[in-house]
Amino acid sequence: MERILSLNSYELVRRECKPEGSAVALAGGVIFGGATLAIAAGPCSVETEEQIEATAAAVARAGANLLRGGAFKPRTSPYAFQGLGRKGLELLRAAAMRHGLAVVTEVLDPRDVDLVAEHADLLQIGARNMQNYPLLRVVGASGKPVLLKRGLCATIDEWLAAAEYILLTGNDRVILCERGIRSFDPSTRNLLDIAAVPLLAQRTHLPIIVDPSHGTGVAALVEPMALAAVAAGADGLLVEVHPNPARAASDGQQSLDFGQFERLVERLRAVSVAVGRQMPSTRAVA
Ligand code: PEP
Ligand code: MN
Repeated sequence: MERILSLNSYELVRRECKPEGSAVALAGGVIFGGATLAIAAGPCSVETEEQIEATAAAVARAGANLLRGGAFKPRTSPYAFQGLGRKGLELLRAAAMRHGLAVVTEVLDPRDVDLVAEHADLLQIGARNMQNYPLLRVVGASGKPVLLKRGLCATIDEWLAAAEYILLTGNDRVILCERGIRSFDPSTRNLLDIAAVPLLAQRTHLPIIVDPSHGTGVAALVEPMALAAVAAGADGLLVEVHPNPARAASDGQQSLDFGQFERLVERLRAVSVAVGRQMPSTRAVA
């Protein structure tokens, strides 16, 4: 105990623990931190069966390997759409299965971890919960891979200390997601910290992906920041895509339509070659 009290706020996540870097493999075979990029795409919220089915088909065709979609939504206003809950998880999993995609979705409440874990390959901890330590312990103990988003005002050290909580449960399958931090400037929703990518690669062995959607809050900025993220060494991306962004129940202003997402993936090919990464293989769609 005395020895533990004298430790730094993180030890297990340090790069020195695994100089070669960690690769985190999901049940379906998607790997974060390997030669191939991991590309998660889908709506902010799962809304209807038609919406998630059309999106899964489109993002799989374009070259994504994971489907994202919120069923439990952390909304600033308690009057805003809160997500479909269990039904949303079922629709998400079914659509992903039809198109050969892995599933990433957020869990907000420790009491929902088992339910979300039944439907997801990767449990997302949202920015607002990065320092919700009881939740981190419960997701860690679930044994499922965890996507830990950066808190809205979290320093790199606070973020790594939060990841340490999960590793301390014995679960080392943690992926970090840079999603922008609060700044003084309302021109963008958040300030996407691209420098965090190479900085984290020095400090930790954990894979790191970037969310240019929440990171900017502006659809027109998503593609350039996605390219920049991969150029900076990100292991993957999390991108919001919606069949009709203007009608989205949440985050429409930062969501790409299918054509825009397809173009992003196309442009990413050249960048991935330049940095020695492979694109996920495009799968045949039924
Ligand atoms: C999300 O990914 O839908 C989300 C709510 O993101 P964040 O926690 O980064 O705001
Ligand atoms: Mn969103």
